[in-house]
Parts: sequence; structure tokens; C-alpha cells
Amino acid sequence: MAVGPTNGQISLTNQNNYTLYIPYTEEFINRRAELRRNHDELMSRINSEQSVIIPTTEDLNLINQKTQSLIKLKPSKSLVENSRNHSFLGELDNRLVFSVDCSHLKDSELSKIRQTYDFIDLRAVGSNLNAIDASLAVYTRGLQYWHRTHIFCARCATPTRITEGGHSRTCTSPKCEHITYPRIAPAAIVLIEHFPTDGSAPKCLLGKGNRSWGNVRSTLAGFTEVGESLEETVKREMEEEAGIKVYNIRYMGSQPWPFPSSLMVGFFAESNETELVLEEEEISEADWYTVEDLERQVASGELVLSRQDSIARYLIESWIEKIKAL
Ligand SMILES: [Zn+2]
Repeated sequence: MAVGPTNGQISLTNQNNYTLYIPYTEEFINRRAELRRNHDELMSRINSEQSVIIPTTEDLNLINQKTQSLIKLKPSKSLVENSRNHSFLGELDNRLVFSVDCSHLKDSELSKIRQTYDFIDLRAVGSNLNAIDASLAVYTRGLQYWHRTHIFCARCATPTRITEGGHSRTCTSPKCEHITYPRIAPAAIVLIEHFPTDGSAPKCLLGKGNRSWGNVRSTLAGFTEVGESLEETVKREMEEEAGIKVYNIRYMGSQPWPFPSSLMVGFFAESNETELVLEEEEISEADWYTVEDLERQVASGELVLSRQDSIARYLIESWIEKIKAL
């Protein structure tokens, strides 16, 4: 199994000899989509001793901070009856795994859980969780967010009810019965490389978004629009954000990013142009970096790379490995 960097290590040059991988993509759970067809029978199994429940509140996951692990609870009458948005995630280790929203649990029940564990934003702990827990956490967070934001029918405003094991919601108006499915917003995230014609060291383009903190530099990204392919998104966004035309677009991998509902689709692309015209509303700074620039500036603290659990980091480290191997 591929193993990522442990927390806090700068893995820029991959000296720890781990295999580069994209976090949140180790999907060990068998989704057992065929069970969703019999919704009522499936949801009754949430009470089984063979089932486990992953609790959430709002956008928070329940975490054991001491062990840095995601909490799975045994079903109890109180937990099942007082939680909402029951959703079947799949089968793992011969157990059915369900996700629930505990926001409306009685205070006494919630405080009992909180005595031992904490409801935490996944962005604060994601890099520390093991691969299975990390994947389960993004899965449950994304699905529960969708439930919370789709309680009314978009067509007629009547309340919806959960169907297909929590993977659809159906309008309760008999005149409508509109079915809606979880929405995912694809975004292209791109590492642009430039190979100078004078034979000097290749460079990559990294920028700082207006909402980023400190010295963080990341790859550029943008959401796919209606009627657009991902390749078109790459070309349009790079021209909008950095003012450069790109070509030789290569798919590098994807990552679920439920903050709140994205799918990040990673690419490498090349540009002959180096003069940048930044989109000020989105990007405050951007520049071209050689591998040597990155290593020196990260070591000195002058520059911080994107979060360790992001596909942006994966793209940057993959590019460094690629250039070093040339
Ligand atoms: Zn409706």
C-alpha cells in the first residue's frame, strides 16, 4: 500500500522514500450499490450489531484526538432514533457502514460522546488520519453536506425524503416526485511547466490565492462551467488567472474534496509564455520556480507549499520528481 508522508515532515525532495499518492483516494469500502434498491430493508439494518455508524455534526467529523482516528460507533436505540440523514456508505470488514447527522441528538447524548471524542473539521486532521479513515471521512462529510442542503425540492419547494440508502432524495409531493442526486462540482487544478528554449532549468508556475495565508504557494485551479470540458477549463482558467496560454494538457489524477462538494481533477500543462497577467480578484502573487528555487525557499521558510493532504501538493512533488529524473 502506498504510504504518504507523516505529519509535519517536509517531503519536498521525497528523501523519506515514500510513494507519492493522492490523499483521500484509498477507497477500501465496497459501496454495495445494489443494496440501495431495497431502501427500507437496507436502512433497517442500521440497527444490526453487525453495523457501524459514523457520526457527524454539521460539517464536522468525530475524531479521537489521541489516536488521530475516525470514530465508528455501535448502533444504539438513542443514536439511531435521534440522528438524521441516515445514509449507507457501504461494506467494510464484513460490516455495513452508515453515516448519520447527530446535530439534533439530545444534549445528554452528545455530551456523552464529547467526553471522549471531538467533532473536528476534517481540514484540521485530514493529513493525520490513516488512509481508510481519511477516505471514510471525506465520503461521509460530502454526503451529509449534500443532505443538509437539499431538504427541499428544487422543482416545487416541497420537503424531500431520503431514498436509495441515502444516495438520492425524492420530493414528497405526489404530483412531483422529483429525484435529485448528490451534486459534485468538478474543478481543474493545474501545474503549468515551462521549458526555456535556452536550455536552462525547467520552471513551474505557483501562485497565492487571495484567500491563502502566509507564504503558501499552490497550483492554479478553477471550476468547470456548464457546457465545458475539463481541458477547456484548464485553458480558460489559466488564461483568466495568469494571462498565459497552455497546451500539452495531461491528466494526473483526481481527488474528492468535500469542502464542500468538489472533485479536484489534476493536470500538468505546458506554456511557452512566461509573462504573467494576474487576475487580481483571485490571485495575489504568482511566479515561476525551478526545482532548486523550491528546495531552497522551502528550506529557508520563505515559501510554504500547499497542504500535505491536497492534490496540489501531489502535483508539485510529482513535478519535482519528474524534473529530477530528467
Ligand atoms: Zn417537488
